[in-house]
Amino acid sequence: MNILTVHAGNVTIGGGSPIVVQTMCNTHTSDVEASVAQCVRLYEAGAQLIRLTVPSLAQVESLREIRRILRDKGIFTPLVADVHFSSEIAIAAAEFVEKVRINPGNFHKDHEKAREQFARLVEVCKANGTAIRIGLNHGSLGDRITNLYGNTPLAMKEAVMEWLDMCVENDFYNVVVSLKASNTFVMVEAYRLLSKEMENKGVIFPLHLGVTEAGNGDGGRIKSAVGISSLLSEGIGNTIRVSLTESPENEIPVAQYLADRYDHKLNSSMVSLILEGKKAIATYIAPSREKLLMDFACDFGKRLLDKEIDEVEIRGTYQENGEEVVLDGSEYAEYLVDELMQAARRRFYRPEYIACPGCGRTMYNLESTFNEVKRRTAHLKGMVIAVMGCIVNGPGEMADADWGYVGEGNHKVSIYKGKTPVLRHVPEDEAIDKLLELIEKAED
Ligand code: SF4
Repeated sequence: MNILTVHAGNVTIGGGSPIVVQTMCNTHTSDVEASVAQCVRLYEAGAQLIRLTVPSLAQVESLREIRRILRDKGIFTPLVADVHFSSEIAIAAAEFVEKVRINPGNFHKDHEKAREQFARLVEVCKANGTAIRIGLNHGSLGDRITNLYGNTPLAMKEAVMEWLDMCVENDFYNVVVSLKASNTFVMVEAYRLLSKEMENKGVIFPLHLGVTEAGNGDGGRIKSAVGISSLLSEGIGNTIRVSLTESPENEIPVAQYLADRYDHKLNSSMVSLILEGKKAIATYIAPSREKLLMDFACDFGKRLLDKEIDEVEIRGTYQENGEEVVLDGSEYAEYLVDELMQAARRRFYRPEYIACPGCGRTMYNLESTFNEVKRRTAHLKGMVIAVMGCIVNGPGEMADADWGYVGEGNHKVSIYKGKTPVLRHVPEDEAIDKLLELIEKAED
């Protein structure tokens, strides 16, 4: 399988290179100082590519300034401009950044018009050696595709193939592709379908893997690990981003673990495995709680997702603060199993949360709001609740959520029931109460 080699500045993706770890700033790109400071921290944490959102042409100039300052500091980490709706912004940024991410779902609705816009972008990228990521998300599939294929992994694959065919038509191969979803099953299936199709066609673009809106804490880490490791273990995936609703610095060790594990630089701390029918009993001797969590998610996520096993039990020990903690029969062991079953969509023991990582479009404290929503909705087992940073992409990206809390900016929030906004312009300090009231009313 010859995967194309993509060059984004000094980083090589695909073509047999090690897995590239990347992340995204959650600062406002217009705040050059804060963005530079965060980029420096991300570089120091080990990010190999750093993405920044570019919502307007004015912010193209901020991005140019951020890049200039970083280069002056001797930091040459390639920068990626994240562009959603405007081909003009993508074209302007492509003149100087190393990579541009576009969301095809948000390009022009008229396919012919979109083709023209894309051809212009490709010309600029060719002239400047800029790479493109075609980043399609489950939540932003267009009506034309969903009418044909439903809201399915197949639809995601078909939609992105149209764009990859355009790359080939334009003789442009400096392209990475992603098909992210918040649902691990949908995400894994979509990438598998795409990988197979590219192999059949004989033009294999490198893949950027990620589980979108994975949330935060242990749940976000386990969900990301289940989706990403299922694919990396099959040799699918060349660059990864773990999206957490936390500081982006926190994403790097999780992503680095996954890259190292599937580049065969580290092993699981599992010391024995017993299979009794479709139940696995695993024993670990783990050096830390963090490693135990990641090892367990990677060892059993794919087996659960693919229904190779139905149950898993975890035993053994891990180290915490210099002490050995025994897992056998503990509440923590039960919690880890519950979280893994939920991430692999086999059993829902709590609500399913969808929360974006936040970016320069977020106008409120996403992380603390999300934690508060989690605290107050913890009893709503099985319900899908989304907390999204912005009204521009949030409603589209929150996919199959039952309820959504979506920041509008100006300290206001929209509350969604499914895809419908049921309350708009709710002041931020009343919004969680209103969300709870609406849910309770609907449950009555
Ligand atoms: S949904 Fe979240 S991550 Fe996506 S553009 Fe909006 S604020 Fe940024």
